[in-house]
Amino acid sequence: MNPADFTTCAYCPRLCRHVCPVAVATGMESATAAAMMTVPLLADRGVLAPADALAGTSLCLGCGACTLHCKVQVPVAERLSAWRAPRLAPPRPEPLQEIGPEPTVCVLTSAEDWSVRWAESEGVAVTSLRTGDSLGHAAWRLGDLTVIGAVAAHLNGRTVITGSGAVEEVAKAAGLPVRRLPAPVAGTIFSSCHGGPRPGPGQLACCGRREGFPEREPAAARMVAEENVRLLGGALASCADEECARWLRAHGGRLVGPTDPPGSPHV
Ligand code: SF4
Ligand code: SF4
Repeated sequence: MNPADFTTCAYCPRLCRHVCPVAVATGMESATAAAMMTVPLLADRGVLAPADALAGTSLCLGCGACTLHCKVQVPVAERLSAWRAPRLAPPRPEPLQEIGPEPTVCVLTSAEDWSVRWAESEGVAVTSLRTGDSLGHAAWRLGDLTVIGAVAAHLNGRTVITGSGAVEEVAKAAGLPVRRLPAPVAGTIFSSCHGGPRPGPGQLACCGRREGFPEREPAAARMVAEENVRLLGGALASCADEECARWLRAHGGRLVGPTDPPGSPHV
């Protein structure tokens, strides 16, 4: 570990606290970038036990809002992830399903199969691939560097069609061409952090479901979702990310995403 990677934040008076979705939604000072970046330094000096240190760096969901706000752009999420990776194995990526020979693949992240509808509207033949972990996005971001090579080999140059920002990030890192489905035109806009975090008065920087956060920190993830729903104030909102839209709907939001069928009940 290079202590210099952490000291800027450790001595910072929490200048990015107000943009961190976890710190804002939970009200926990231990969720601030400054607090979490202090943990590796304390662990290195033997002040914190290894298990406490892992717990103390667990409340970052990787949105990048602190880095965007920071005057010296410390890559907090990446540094915390790099520190945790050798101490706590990243989640295992799901095996990739078999796909057909077509050069275009619709990547499905839920039970909803929009690939037939999309293929008919575009007049092209497609194959589809269902993934429960956004092509291993969390595993990749949390340190499994084999994910990108496996996706590149499996999809082998196919064009990826997706309504998920996480899938898009993995596919682009794998060197694949990607087409994102457009966000539906409805109400206000909820911006996904996958397109760059945009903390603002109408939402937090992230919906709370990113990078396996609900599985790792369920209470905090729920609080981030509920705070976003409260900020939306019951308004119908369109989100370009299907996974964010579903997550916020599950917490009471009126969100519509790019893969929801026309006439969805939540619209
Ligand atoms: S990311 Fe920047 S603003 Fe946030 S704690 Fe670190 S040094 Fe301070
Ligand atoms: S990357 Fe996001 S969740 Fe992590 S500390 Fe920064 S603002 Fe908070």
